[in-house]
Amino acid sequence: MLLQGVACRMLAAAPEAFVARIGGDEFTLIITTGEQPAAAEAVAKRLLAAFIDDFVIDGKSIQIGLSIGGAVYPADGTDAKTLMANADAALYQAKAAPQMSLMFFQPEMGFQLQERHNLQLDLRQAIARGELLLHYQPQFHIAGEVIGFEALARWHSPTRGLVPPSTFIPIAEECGLIIPLGEWALREACREAATWAEPLAIAVNVSPIQFHHGDLPGLVHTILLETGLAPARLELEITEGVLINDFSRAVSILRRLKSLGVQIALDDFGTGYSSLSYLHAFAFDKIKIDRAFISDLEHNHHSMAIVRAVIGLGHSLEIPILAEGVETEYQHGFLVTAGCDQIQGYLAGRPFPIERYAELVNGPPPASERHSELPLEQTGRPMAARG
Ligand code: C2E
Ligand code: MG
Ligand code: MG
Repeated sequence: MLLQGVACRMLAAAPEAFVARIGGDEFTLIITTGEQPAAAEAVAKRLLAAFIDDFVIDGKSIQIGLSIGGAVYPADGTDAKTLMANADAALYQAKAAPQMSLMFFQPEMGFQLQERHNLQLDLRQAIARGELLLHYQPQFHIAGEVIGFEALARWHSPTRGLVPPSTFIPIAEECGLIIPLGEWALREACREAATWAEPLAIAVNVSPIQFHHGDLPGLVHTILLETGLAPARLELEITEGVLINDFSRAVSILRRLKSLGVQIALDDFGTGYSSLSYLHAFAFDKIKIDRAFISDLEHNHHSMAIVRAVIGLGHSLEIPILAEGVETEYQHGFLVTAGCDQIQGYLAGRPFPIERYAELVNGPPPASERHSELPLEQTGRPMAARG
């Protein structure tokens, strides 16, 4: 019914166009009359205006977004295939915009699309060739004691160098590679943590796509058995993205995960929908305040108020609050005063290969083996000693 409603609005807004639905939620319009690109732009603007109001289906209001990508004959292609591909490249850019938007094809978009495609091919091989690795960032009790580590994926590509997760995770999500990648990260982090002398926690990020794919609780259960890691030491970090589309299914998966004995943390809190109903529907074991609010503390009174309010909320709900991205003594001091429970950030320890944190995970070496090859501030020990 929603698709029918969408089609009706499109036809009404673009009577001069040929309109077709070409896939799930994708439509194509062909506009052959008038001067281009002005004519196409005029239609696109009418379309955007037509989608501002909610759709009402079965008495329920539904708001949907609209992104439009355009390509113009003959400048952007002289055959249907090229025109469609270039309109698609423009659509991809339009989708990246936060609001409903319109983009026309530009030649550099073609290169970007090609680059994305190449990156996908490389990433597929990277997993097989073992070019992925995990870095570990310590998490501390505000008083200084180490609690555990967050495992963060890195891609060491022989041709591209060290590719950051902000580049390859979204691409892996787009093409489904996040499934093997996420499974690898989970298994590798659990395997590593099971070797530590100290029973510290290990936090692993779970992408919304991985969360809703297959049987995540079953996979977690298998990996725990395989690696021998105590379930209570594993913490899965999810974002609100997991809860948006199919809330009741998501909550049921979360409950099944919880019943395995693992912990569930809500990552990047404050940047998404931050709906309080999520906190009401499921008992999270930790809330991580997004780095954006922490980095703003020095300059922004609103961020101060928000951070204080989230800490207060956590305390009332008896959920520990961790502040992400703590970089300065000022931020640390503010968080101590505000009663924040835990911190993670460059101030206390950067993400590094686990060898750099050997003393935290295995305790101090015997006196005879002690050597000081690393400056103290890189090992995370200063925070551990801060007490
Ligand atoms: P995240 O889960 O919120 O991880 C925290 C990010 O903040 C990490 O970025 C970390 O290096 C960075 N960070 C920590 N402390 C500081 C600080 O004091 N200052 C600054 N500027 N940054 C700090 P990273 O490693 O680049 O990872 C980015 C994101 O990629 C992660 O955000 C997570 O969403 C995703 N990611 C990483 N590894 C995985 C993975 O194995 N699976 C999935 N699904 N996502 C992953
Ligand atoms: Mg995380
Ligand atoms: Mg985060």
